[in-house]
Amino acid sequence: MSKVIIIGAGGVANVVAKKCAQNDSVFTEVLIATRTVAKADKIVAEIKEHMPDSRAVFTTATVDADNVPELVKLINDFGPKMVINVALPYQDLTIMDACLETGVHYLDTANYEPKDVAKFEYSWQWAYQDRFKEKGLMALLGCGFDPGATQAFTAHHAKHHFQEIHYLDIVDCNNGNHGKAFATNFNPEINIREITANGRYWENGEWVETQPLEISQDIYYPKVATRKSFVLYHEELESLVKHFPTIKRARFWMTFGEAYIKHLNVLEGIGMTSIEPIDFRGMKVAPIEFLKAVLPAPESLAAGYSGQTCIGVQAKGIGKDGQPKVHFVYNVKDHADCYREVQAQGVSYTTGVPAMIGAMLMLNGDWMQPGVWNVEQLDPDPFFDAMNKWGLPISELADIELVKD
Ligand code: NDP
Repeated sequence: MSKVIIIGAGGVANVVAKKCAQNDSVFTEVLIATRTVAKADKIVAEIKEHMPDSRAVFTTATVDADNVPELVKLINDFGPKMVINVALPYQDLTIMDACLETGVHYLDTANYEPKDVAKFEYSWQWAYQDRFKEKGLMALLGCGFDPGATQAFTAHHAKHHFQEIHYLDIVDCNNGNHGKAFATNFNPEINIREITANGRYWENGEWVETQPLEISQDIYYPKVATRKSFVLYHEELESLVKHFPTIKRARFWMTFGEAYIKHLNVLEGIGMTSIEPIDFRGMKVAPIEFLKAVLPAPESLAAGYSGQTCIGVQAKGIGKDGQPKVHFVYNVKDHADCYREVQAQGVSYTTGVPAMIGAMLMLNGDWMQPGVWNVEQLDPDPFFDAMNKWGLPISELADIELVKD
């Protein structure tokens, strides 16, 4: 029986909203507030069309989430219990500020990133710890799939399978085909910034930096395919090595097709991925923002997308019985199934479902506690139950090493 505000109306917000509509005993009133309200209206129209039985009441509003007073007014007018932030990482801090000012809980799916520096880390949001605690409010950071479910998978390894985790490999495969020459599966600006940055992984107490896409290996993704996968830096590595100090090495791997990398190399080579604004006809334009305007919107890829995603976490270390152990926890999701269910592609779906689940576990009390939290700090069991129930069934594979040293 809760009112929530969803901020953003992109690919992920579409899924969060529709899963809230399905879970209408928890989410009774939902306001979708975003910059371009027509996108929120479209989501609500689709809910009415495809989910006529949902008892959740949806409304929409315009908001500039970079503007704290505007957010405060929006929150005060609607009076929600929490805000689900699925706008962009640039808005995390302004939305957290507005939540503190209005006394509502907070959840997001990506850590804060300044607009003008290609850098993301948790320090900015962890700095809110005392303020959220003092106000008795909870902020749950990074509750999508990766970050998000991958940290619950690690917590599950630690709770149910391992005395000590020594080696952690997070693997993310999109074996789908959207039929476009080049497109990104989530916000292009964020996606391209992530991939063109140097790689980084944790080893023996320090970060090891690599060139972009320098390290690769063929990884077998169960039920899906063997795909060439590349080491890149991903934000959950930072919190995982902090919260599981026995980890000696932690890496994140993602698949990219040859055509994708070729396009990216060309775009980078001609300066189109730069975040430095240039003068264009009297205007300041960051090339990557222009590129985003030219590329297909992630949500437009959904119709006709085929293939599956497979995202999982391999842990190696000392098992509960004191013996060396390797174990893999993962989910496989079919793009076309996502489209049939909520008119979304798999990458938006696998992000939006854990966000809805995180919000539910806060609202029903299972996870609710004051302070700023990463997903691996919370009990993975209710999260696993909910993933199995709400469309992202989890599988496990024992004693097979999929990612090699
Ligand atoms: P989209 O670009 O599709 O959607 C972003 C939405 O935020 C758009 O509706 C956009 O409005 C809105 N928005 C942007 N700036 C503002 C602002 N200042 N005020 C109000 N609204 C704003 O992105 P996605 O849906 O693909 O991604 C959403 C979030 O999910 C991102 O933070 C992304 O990094 C994260 N993500 C996390 C993953 C995970 O597994 N943890 C995986 C994939 C994504 P407009 O329509 O006007 O542009």
